[in-house]
Parts: sequence; structure tokens; C-alpha cells
Amino acid sequence: MTDAETRQTATPVSVPETRRSRRASLPRHARVRVGKREVAAPSAAFEVLDLARIAHVGFIDEGRPMVIPMLHARIERTLYIHGAKATRIVKGMQDRAPVCLTVTLLDGIVVARSAFHHSMNYRSVVVHGAARHVVDDRERKAALVALTDRLLPGRWDEVRPMTDKELAATGVLAIDVEHITMKRREGPPVDDEADYALPVWAGVVELAETVTAVTPDERLAPDVPRPRSLRALEAAGAPTPSPGLSRGRGAA
Ligand SMILES: Cc1cc2nc3c(=O)[nH]c(=O)nc-3n(C[C@H](O)[C@H](O)[C@H](O)COP(=O)(O)OP(=O)(O)OC[C@H]3O[C@@H](n4cnc5c(N)ncnc54)[C@H](O)[C@@H]3O)c2cc1C
Repeated sequence: MTDAETRQTATPVSVPETRRSRRASLPRHARVRVGKREVAAPSAAFEVLDLARIAHVGFIDEGRPMVIPMLHARIERTLYIHGAKATRIVKGMQDRAPVCLTVTLLDGIVVARSAFHHSMNYRSVVVHGAARHVVDDRERKAALVALTDRLLPGRWDEVRPMTDKELAATGVLAIDVEHITMKRREGPPVDDEADYALPVWAGVVELAETVTAVTPDERLAPDVPRPRSLRALEAAGAPTPSPGLSRGRGAA
């Protein structure tokens, strides 16, 4: 992940015209500097957004940068976040305020023969967009369904509907995607050539988020069956790479 590592592994090919012209069309803040790690297809970035369980949402409040971890959901090119109306991000967000939302899937710890070349395998996405308060009832409902179903697939249909009071207490923000970028690192460590002879262990510790246990609430009546949504979550398991993003040998 260091500049040196990037230089060492970069294949010296000319930047394709498509990337050059695409970069030129982007504002400076949304340009991926090192193309080697960039995944240009927006569909791949949307897929990572849909797999990630946590988004970090960055915004400016009273002149201060704030980055807050939140649940997110996507409907086409719009991302949704929600919170109590009293939260800073909901209460303080001006319509059309610039926001930056990022997600990361951590795929592995890259263990090198030197401290300098340690790294991480990951898929990460950065979204630049503008926030807006969702006031339309239909859009609010769709967002809340999507946000609930992000936790357990199909959960919205299994539970007591939200009351008017709960709805009134909940703020929903939409982030209309202006620019979306994705980066990915995969593969083994990239050491200095001379270091490969060292008797120092190197490799990749693969990581994945997974269900480790399911604990029924202690106040749950014993005759309540496991819901379909829970079974769906367990069946889905950990976020996995798509076939197009399968991890291979060789640095990204
Ligand atoms: C788990 C993890 C750990 C990392 N650890 C380090 C670290 O320790 N040190 C380090 O220097 N870098 C690290 N990175 C990479 C880091 O996220 C940035 O990619 C890097 O700092 C880019 O700097 P820049 O100046 O080239 O781009 P910037 O000018 O910072 O970014 C320009 C634009 O490029 C896009 N972009 C930048 N980074 C990413 C990204 N990761 N994913 C998607 N889009 C992106 C965004 O649109 C951003 O607005 C890590 C990444 C991940 C996912």
C-alpha cells in the first residue's frame, strides 16, 4: 500500500486513453491517483457497497470534519442512511451538503518480510455525493425497508410495522451519488528482491466477516421459530468476492 510498493509492482504500461479521459472528466477530489489498484467498473463498486455492513460517512459540521459509522442501503444510484432526528448528522445536514461515504471489505493481512511492505488485501469504495433529507413518504418507506433488510434479508416483512411516532422520530438522508471510486488490493506480499532470501515468514492471513453464533433473546418465547431472514443471513455467510473479483496470485 505504500508508494514504494506501488512503484515496485506497477507494470510499466501507458495509461489507457479511456482512463486518462475518464480521470480528466472528474473533479480532483474524486480521482484515484494510482490506477493500478483502481477498479473502474461502477457495477463492481456497487457490489462492494451492497456487501459491506458498515459505512463511514464524512461531512463537515460547524467547520469540523466528522466521520461517523452508520448502516447504509442502496437503491440504484442512491444511498440511504438514517438516524434519530436528534443526531448531528440528521439534524445538522443541510440539503445538498457535500458528503463522502466509504466502505471497506477487509480480505486479508499481507505479511511481508520487512515492516515496510506489510499491507492489507481489501476492496474499498468511496462515494462522493450530496445529501438530501427524504421527505417523500414512498421514498422514506422504501429506504427504511432497504435499511432494515440490509441487517437481515427480508426482515421488514417479518416484524411489527413502524408506528407513526417511530416514523416521526426517524430522519432519512439520501446521498445521490456524484462520483464513485473503488480500489482493490489482492495477492501476496511484495518484498524487496533481496529480502526473499530472509528466513522470515511471509504470506497472507485471509480474513472474512462471518456469523459466529446466534443467541436468542432471553425473553423470547420458546415456541417462536427461527425466522426466514435469519436463515437467509446464515446461508449468505460472509461477504465473498464476486467471480469477477476473485482473489488470484500476484499483486493487484
Ligand atoms: C483497509 C485499508 C487500509 C489502508 N491503509 C493505508 C495506509 O496505511 N496508508 C496509506 O497511505 N494508504 C492506505 N490505504 C489506501 C488509502 O485508502 C488510499 O487509497 C490512499 O491513501 C490514497 O491516497 P491518494 O493520495 O492516492 O488519494 P486521495 O487523494 O486521498 O484520494 C483521491 C480519491 O481517490 C479515491 N480513493 C482514494 N482511496 C480510495 C480507496 N481506498 N478506495 C476507493 N477510492 C479511493 C477517492 O475518490 C478519493 O476521493 C488503505 C486502504 C484500505 C482499504
